[in-house]
Amino acid sequence: MRIISALVLLMLSMAAAAQQSYLVDWDEIGEEAIQHFVELIRIDSSNPPGNETEVAEYVQTILAEEGIDSELYALDPARANLVARIRGNGSKRPILIMGHTDVVGVQPEKWYADPFSGMRQDGFIYGRGTLDDKDNVAAGMMVMMMLERFGVELDRDIIFLAEAGEEGTPDVGINFMVENHFDLIDAEYCLAEGGQTVKEEDLVKTVGIETTEKIPRRVTLVARGTPGHGSRPTLDNAVVILANAIARVSAWQTDVRFNDTTRTYFRRLAEISAPEDAWRYLNVENPEESDAIQQYFLETFPYHYSISRTSVVPTVIDAGFRKNVIPSEATAILDIRALPDENIEEFYAELAAVIDDSRVEIVPEYIYRPAAPPSEIDNEMFQTLERVALRMYPEASVLPIMATGATDMAQVRARGMQAYGIGPARSVEEINSGFGAHGDNERIEEEAFVELVKYLWNVVIEMSATG
Ligand SMILES: [Zn+2]
Repeated sequence: MRIISALVLLMLSMAAAAQQSYLVDWDEIGEEAIQHFVELIRIDSSNPPGNETEVAEYVQTILAEEGIDSELYALDPARANLVARIRGNGSKRPILIMGHTDVVGVQPEKWYADPFSGMRQDGFIYGRGTLDDKDNVAAGMMVMMMLERFGVELDRDIIFLAEAGEEGTPDVGINFMVENHFDLIDAEYCLAEGGQTVKEEDLVKTVGIETTEKIPRRVTLVARGTPGHGSRPTLDNAVVILANAIARVSAWQTDVRFNDTTRTYFRRLAEISAPEDAWRYLNVENPEESDAIQQYFLETFPYHYSISRTSVVPTVIDAGFRKNVIPSEATAILDIRALPDENIEEFYAELAAVIDDSRVEIVPEYIYRPAAPPSEIDNEMFQTLERVALRMYPEASVLPIMATGATDMAQVRARGMQAYGIGPARSVEEINSGFGAHGDNERIEEEAFVELVKYLWNVVIEMSATG
């Protein structure tokens, strides 16, 4: 009797979903994943200087113990990238799992504990990189280990890239890999950081999958005037010229425009929002309501304002060096985040027209993130990300999202991969606190980290397991 019911259960579970035929003990796997995650956090890979090779070597050792070969590829020997591959039968094109091994720096005196201790307390793991991005590194590594351990037969190769330099120095990381070793990481799909999963009262309410991101296209404004003595007013003071330019730029309402991702985002968000908000989300493209809605977004939720347009934000001003000297030059940086389809040369021309002052030069920054179209939201991968999310969190809505910040997915999207950002669940209170990525006391819920591993595993299995 017990045997029969066990068989029936097994058959039912096989029919229900491929991933359930692998009987994963998530308590055990979860604890193992946390142990590795904590070890990764203990390696200080603050960028600068990075020292990501230490992280790559740790990952390489752990993978080797599991019988998985990997190779390190480095432009700078201290900043290696790791690539591992588990082979499938080749009937489908590969999936690339990507996580970056560097972290941003810390101000240790602002932390409760050593930011590189991986302290576990009250269900949280603390440390630089717990949310950005050693969670994805550990999850990717763990999924590779599980594929090997369970001998999963695959229709496609699964590639794991633990990459250096994401935090502002992609030339040693993703750019190096894309330019020199693209054949090793080329895939149909990429899974990486950048998703937003939000919990309310312990239930996951939205699973945000990053399908596209805004493209940094900053410029420096250089205002030039005649230098002179601070005691004698002039008509072409570089400080005044610059201030006027910044004032005009700040008042500029750039064009509002949507893509598949942002349209779907607002439509689905409307379904789960209070009536007034829902009305706004459903009317974002209504020309008669657009100005008022955008103003409301700007005042209440700048993320929505930003994803509706190419945004221009002054961030740095540099003018003058002595209180009694009129300087000949004054500069400001505008942090421009372009929509993925922006024609940036035309946008700069519009910017020049808005400033309308030939004494102000616009100097674009060096481009380190290529533009790429948003990844699709109707393909097998997005549907699988959605289906698995809804199975794990039946109360949730899945939202495709456009990140306002940038990630290394820009580079792989530009090479034709369909790339999707996922992320651990966080409560609204947690998101509104200072414990986030790049903040002091960055932390992740242990359970949320294990769920991230589980989510990645389920998606990889459903996309790739044979039969
Ligand atoms: Zn990151």
